[in-house]
Amino acid sequence: ESSLKNKVALITGAASGIGQATAIQLAKAGAKIVLVDLNDRRAETTEEQIKQLGGECIFVDTDVADPQRVEQAVQKAVEAFNTIDIVFANAGINGTVAPIEDLTPEQWDETLTTNLKSTFLTVKYAIPHMKQNGGSIIITSSINGSRKFSGFGMSAYSSSKAGQVAFAKMAALELAQYKIRVNVICPGAIETNIGENTFRQPEVEKIQIPVVYPEGSQPLEHGPGKPEQVADLVMFLASSSSSHISGTEIFIDGAETLL
Ligand code: NAD
Repeated sequence: ESSLKNKVALITGAASGIGQATAIQLAKAGAKIVLVDLNDRRAETTEEQIKQLGGECIFVDTDVADPQRVEQAVQKAVEAFNTIDIVFANAGINGTVAPIEDLTPEQWDETLTTNLKSTFLTVKYAIPHMKQNGGSIIITSSINGSRKFSGFGMSAYSSSKAGQVAFAKMAALELAQYKIRVNVICPGAIETNIGENTFRQPEVEKIQIPVVYPEGSQPLEHGPGKPEQVADLVMFLASSSSSHISGTEIFIDGAETLL
């Protein structure tokens, strides 16, 4: 815990759910916290809680989809605490849940901008303040952006979350020269306020999940894969055929996690 003493952590979506819990935990571990969120009332509650714990904390009311405001939030963080060591790019919405043919371009943009462009903006404006001493960037994606594309009507959400995974990997590559680490977390269902906060006009009655594959089966095989199929992959990874593959994930599961 003491390793976070006096580290400066900028956390987006810090007024609720995962961001709020993280802000409190990091503060308990001695970090100075910059709370970034839209929601004054809940952000103030978080700020009070952290101060009651004896932690140092500021709240910056910011729409993370707005470049100027993200840049200002980073400036305020540096004015308050001189530097930034940790960035948790976590703010996000579910957005409109609708079949693709009913989803409007504006609804698509809202989800992509709030979840994905915001991640780019948060990281972009923090970099100049992290380059000298290095640091750690953590991005909240979802299992629905990496493993389990099962949210019917959530094409925009899953696209934004998958984009975050790709962005995190590119950022990790680019920023390694500055000793800035970038990692992405992919939670499954977590009990937060995201449903009540951010579902827009759910059209769930139009969304029907076809029951084609029984629970726990693998779509490709209608049963488990074979050891020999796994051995093929191990052979590939052990050989010079894969000499340029590193830092990636390969799933071998007959598409089981897509159910
Ligand atoms: P939440 O709604 O409880 O918290 C999200 C916070 O982000 C809210 O305080 C909200 O005000 C803030 N926010 C939304 N849009 C913003 C904007 N434009 N500018 C600034 N702040 C904004 O939800 P949560 O579940 O804690 O979500 C956090 C992250 O976790 C999201 O990226 C979400 O996609 C991801 N996630 C959640 C779950 C889950 O089951 N809850 C699963 C996988 C991933």
